Amino acid sequence: MQKRTKIVATIGPASDSLEQITALIQAGVNVFRLNFSHGTHEYHTNVFSRIKKACEASGSVVGVLQDISGPKVRIGMLEEDFVLSTNDTIDFVREKIVGCKMSEGHYQLCINEPKVLDQLKVGEYVYMYDGIIRAIVVGVDAQKVTVKIENEGMLSSKKGVNFPNTSLGIDVLTPKDKQDMLWGVEHGVDFMAISFVQNADDMRAARAIIQEHGGRTHLIAKIEKFDAVDNIDSILEASDGIMIARGDLGIEVPYFEVPTIQKMLIKKANNHSKPVITATQMMLSMTTKESATRAEISDVANAVLDGTDAVMLSEESAIGKHPVLVVETMVKTIQAAEKQYPFHKFSSFDMGDKDDKIDESAVRLSESLDTAGLIAMTGSGQSAKKISRYRPSRPIIAVTYNRSIAQSLALVWGVMPVIEVEKSGLRDMVGELMEQGIESGLLSRENSYILTAGDPAGIPGSTNLIRVVSKYEIDFFLERHRKMKEERNR
Ligand code: PGA
Ligand code: MN
Repeated sequence: MQKRTKIVATIGPASDSLEQITALIQAGVNVFRLNFSHGTHEYHTNVFSRIKKACEASGSVVGVLQDISGPKVRIGMLEEDFVLSTNDTIDFVREKIVGCKMSEGHYQLCINEPKVLDQLKVGEYVYMYDGIIRAIVVGVDAQKVTVKIENEGMLSSKKGVNFPNTSLGIDVLTPKDKQDMLWGVEHGVDFMAISFVQNADDMRAARAIIQEHGGRTHLIAKIEKFDAVDNIDSILEASDGIMIARGDLGIEVPYFEVPTIQKMLIKKANNHSKPVITATQMMLSMTTKESATRAEISDVANAVLDGTDAVMLSEESAIGKHPVLVVETMVKTIQAAEKQYPFHKFSSFDMGDKDDKIDESAVRLSESLDTAGLIAMTGSGQSAKKISRYRPSRPIIAVTYNRSIAQSLALVWGVMPVIEVEKSGLRDMVGELMEQGIESGLLSRENSYILTAGDPAGIPGSTNLIRVVSKYEIDFFLERHRKMKEERNR
């Protein structure tokens, strides 16, 4: 059985050759992630063209997600590593300095975003080095913020800093991010993921930059800050999808709350019919080992059962020893979980508009008539996404006349964005999709399908038609299409 949950794989030195990319597509990758925290534009340009080449050769619709690195707050350079003990103090100073030891148990350093220091208040926490070193703010004055260390640890240059109680109020897009986004618009990436999003305004700012340059990239909000969790409803409104970026998220919120936050975020994204990616450490041990731990297998399976659209690989596929094997392991895990999937009965959703009701009826009809699949004719991709949220047990075949819309559906649970037709009248498009579908083996003349469409075509949010396409109708449409082509050629 085909898997329904999608796989996002990060490309890096372990997987950036044409052979590896091709093998990863064959293994089941739906979207490739280019991580702009690493690599030059030249590197990503080369990888991008290899992905395009591999897709063309394999005939698969695979999306590309550009991950914009965002304002990762880091400490500056240190003269030497700080060996910290409980109750030591560190002064975070506003000017740029090389960090050093001032006296026994007392240190000073700077950070790359000094504006953040203005937001800190006594009693708030500062986490350094991925949360390994914890400190509490004990003093704030015009020159510095003083923190007291609460545990032991060693701190070296350039380590990340998190502020789990403080709204930073910084621009979420750095000058480098803006340059990187232009690269993405120029190359036509399908998705851009924005890091360290705080609120909906951050997403609107990112969208404004893309639109200013004539881009139409789909925007994914990475949920990895505590305030993003609080603001999730408005962030979902302003985004085309979200990523549960559990790495940084588990530092920003207590790590033991990540599983329940994951469930909450997935449910909300499903309700909005927006794709959600569950990311980070899913099969981390396979970076070096040939098999995943039982806990990792459970993590992937549980994300599937939570209702995620996609699961993601980071180091595992970017720098790991077994990029293809980890994808194969993920595919088997997804398929096994989907055997127990609560198809259709998945969840009850808010019925936002007329299309929600039509798409829900189409799924119900497809289940009760036992059809072979749902064919969603979609100009914007929206109706395929809405059908997907009901998690039908039958395949969702998305038909569109817009290549970039087809690619954007690569991330959406259960949608096969496979057929591209020329924009014309509804009957002509149905004829063409039947012909293509039968030729490629995706549709069968022996089966019946549920077709949803807007008639006339091309108006977003205008789904007004549910049609049961039976064997006889397939024959009728094929015959009509054949005659039309003949006439055209005469
Ligand atoms: P990153 O995002 O890999 O860009 O940090 C994912 C995460 O934080 O989990
Ligand atoms: Mn992150």
